[in-house]
Amino acid sequence: MTTPNTFPAIAGSLSQFDPQALPVSAAQAIVLQWVTPLAQGERVPLRDALARVLAADVISPIDVPAHDNSAMDGYAFDSAALARPAQTLTLTVAGKAFAGHPYTDAVASDRCVRIMTGAPIPVGCDTIVPQERVTIDACETDAPATISFAANAVAPGANRRRQGEDLARGGVALRAGRVLRASDIGLMASLGLVDVRVKRRLRVAYFSTGDELRSPGQPLDAGSIYDSNRYTLGAMLQRLNVEPIDLGVVRDDPEALTATLLQAAESADVVLTSGGVSVGEADFTRSQLQTLGDVSFWGLAMRPGRPLAFGRIWSGGRPGAGRAALLFGLPGNPVATMVSFYQIVRPALIAMSGATPQPMPLIPACCDAPIRKRAGRTEFQRGIAERDAQGQWRVTPTGSQSSGALSTMSEANCFIVLAHDAADLDAGDAVDIMLFDGLV
Ligand code: AMP
Ligand code: MG
Repeated sequence: MTTPNTFPAIAGSLSQFDPQALPVSAAQAIVLQWVTPLAQGERVPLRDALARVLAADVISPIDVPAHDNSAMDGYAFDSAALARPAQTLTLTVAGKAFAGHPYTDAVASDRCVRIMTGAPIPVGCDTIVPQERVTIDACETDAPATISFAANAVAPGANRRRQGEDLARGGVALRAGRVLRASDIGLMASLGLVDVRVKRRLRVAYFSTGDELRSPGQPLDAGSIYDSNRYTLGAMLQRLNVEPIDLGVVRDDPEALTATLLQAAESADVVLTSGGVSVGEADFTRSQLQTLGDVSFWGLAMRPGRPLAFGRIWSGGRPGAGRAALLFGLPGNPVATMVSFYQIVRPALIAMSGATPQPMPLIPACCDAPIRKRAGRTEFQRGIAERDAQGQWRVTPTGSQSSGALSTMSEANCFIVLAHDAADLDAGDAVDIMLFDGLV
C-alpha cells in the first residue's frame, strides 16, 4: 500500500477534471493507478483452482504428448515404403498397438502395425494410413494378414502427433496472472500436477447504508424498503470469486458508519458501501471518508451512477494509522450500484486480485428506437439485443431507464453504451452494446 501522503485527490495530469464529475475513463485510470496487486499466495488442489489467479508461471515438467502417437485408427508404417515405384502398397500386419498398450518391437519397412488413436507410434514407423483407406487382403488361416492401399492415399508423416507438440518440457504452460479456466485445470492435470500456486482471495467487505432499509424476512413498515444492494453486491462479488465479508445494513448515523468503516478496514482489502454518497443530507460516506482517510474523487460524469466516492480508509481512524483499505462509496439507487460496480469496481478488484482486467468487448449494433442523451457523460442504458437474419445486432432500450428500477437489469441482456461526447440518437443509429453474458 502507498504511504498516506501520496494518495492523490486527482492524479497529476488528470487534475484538469472536476472531482465531482470525472469522465468514466479518467476514473478507471485513477482507480487502477491506486491498486496494488496482492502479493500473498497459497497452494490449492487442482479441483479448487477454477477462477483463481495463477501466482507463478506453470512450467511443464514433461512433454505433452509424452510420445509420438497416432491421430487416427489405422495402420502405422515407415513412409520410406511410399518412395517405391508401386502404385499400390501391400504391407504385412506385424501386430497391434492400442492406447496404453504399445507395440514394442521394431517394425520392418515391408510391415505395418494395426494402431488405434492415441497409441504410441512403434519404432520404425512414422506415418499412419487411416483404416478407411485400406483393404484387408484375404489371408490364409494362421498366416499374418496383409493390407493394401493406394500409395497416394497418404503423405509421409501423416496422422502423427509429435511428442511435445502440445507442450514442450521446460516451456511455460500458463502465465502468472491468468484467471484459471476449465481448460487450464485440465492442462495442469495433463502435466501430472496435483496442486497449483494461486493468489490468496481478495477480501471485500460490503454493507448498505440507509435508515429506510429492511432485510428480506423482516416486516416492511411505512416508508421502508427492502435492501437489495447487499444482495446484488454479494452476487456480483461471488462471480469474481473474492472472499466476501457482509457487514449488514448500517443506519444513517455518522458514528455507526465510522465504526463499521473501521471494522471493514481492519479485515478487508477493499470496502464497498452503497447509499449515502449523494451531495446533500445523505453524504455521510464521503464526509467519513474525508476524516478516516483520503478521498480521490466523489462523482462521475456517468449515468446512472453519478455519485461515487473513491478513496482509502485507515483502520486506525486517520491517514497513515493502521491498515489501509480501498473504499468505493457506491450510489444507493440499485441500477446505479450495479453500473458503478461493473465500470469502476470490477476492473479494480480484478487488478488487485493479481490478474489483468480486460475491457468488456463492445459490439456495434443498430438501435431500434431514438435515445435522449446529453453530451458530457457516459451513459449505460439497459437494452435488449438480438441478431437479425443478416447477422447484424439490433438493440431496443428497455422501457424504463430509471436508476431505481432493478427490473430493467433483469429484463435487459446488455448495456447500450453511449460515449461521453455522444448526443441524442435517432432510431436506426449505430450504438455500442456490452452484452451481460460473462458480466452479470
Ligand atoms: P442514497 O444514495 O442513500 O440517497 O439512496 C438513493 C436511493 O437508493 C434511495 O431511493 C434509496 O432508498 C435507495 N437505496 C439506497 N440503498 C439501497 C439498498 N441497499 N437497496 C435498495 N435501495 C436502496
Ligand atoms: Mg441513503
